[in-house]
Amino acid sequence: ITNLSKTYQSAGRVLTVLDHINFSVATGSTNAIVGPSGSGKTTLLGLCAGLDRSTSGSVELNGINMSNLTEDQRAQVRNQHIGFIFQNFQLLPTLTALENVMVPLELRGEKNIKARALDLLDKVGLSERGHHYPLQLSGGEQQRVSLARAFSNAPKILFADEPTGNLDAETSDKVIKLIFDLNKEAGTTLVVVTHDLELAAKTQRIIRIKGGKLIADDKTINA
Ligand code: ATP
Repeated sequence: ITNLSKTYQSAGRVLTVLDHINFSVATGSTNAIVGPSGSGKTTLLGLCAGLDRSTSGSVELNGINMSNLTEDQRAQVRNQHIGFIFQNFQLLPTLTALENVMVPLELRGEKNIKARALDLLDKVGLSERGHHYPLQLSGGEQQRVSLARAFSNAPKILFADEPTGNLDAETSDKVIKLIFDLNKEAGTTLVVVTHDLELAAKTQRIIRIKGGKLIADDKTINA
């Protein structure tokens, strides 16, 4: 990302949420973004994943300049190359766990989507819970469904926003293992926003954001 900035207009004032951020992550690497609440981490992750547009600056993914794309084109790139895990899971409440995992497969026009979705649920240990709706699942189970959904396109890069935020220690360890296994087995690049310094310490690199600025970029947590 190059000179990435994001501002909002609020009550006649300009609020600068991200201020000229620059960094690039290497293919296959594991990276954490840390920083105080409100420092701009979620906004940054959303821009990197093409969920939102920056005010200025650019985001490039595998040679594609995301900043020049229309919303539809960005959605296509997301479908093909990007996995995203949201802080609050963002499962569709009216669809079962299995159907939630089937959605992106269906959008890409793939075949045998039910069997593939079942395989993905099996990978996260939830093959027995496919017929359950999100509200019938615990937070940790919902997060694992959202992992299965994020893994469904064998993403080149996985963005995760507080993937362990609301989970107990045991479930959190399971989720972390699944994410890092994806990196080890498929070479998926990881970019994880987290307050969990133990999780951050497991990555190869820690990018620290404060007040919308990048203030440190190394393995030092307490920079
Ligand atoms: P947390 O750790 O609490 O999740 P964060 O570092 O992820 O915080 P962001 O969610 O990126 O922070 O928010 C950064 C700032 O941008 C906050 O001050 C927030 O209020 C502001 N912000 C986010 N979205 C909007 C919006 N749509 N309009 C106005 N301000 C916004």
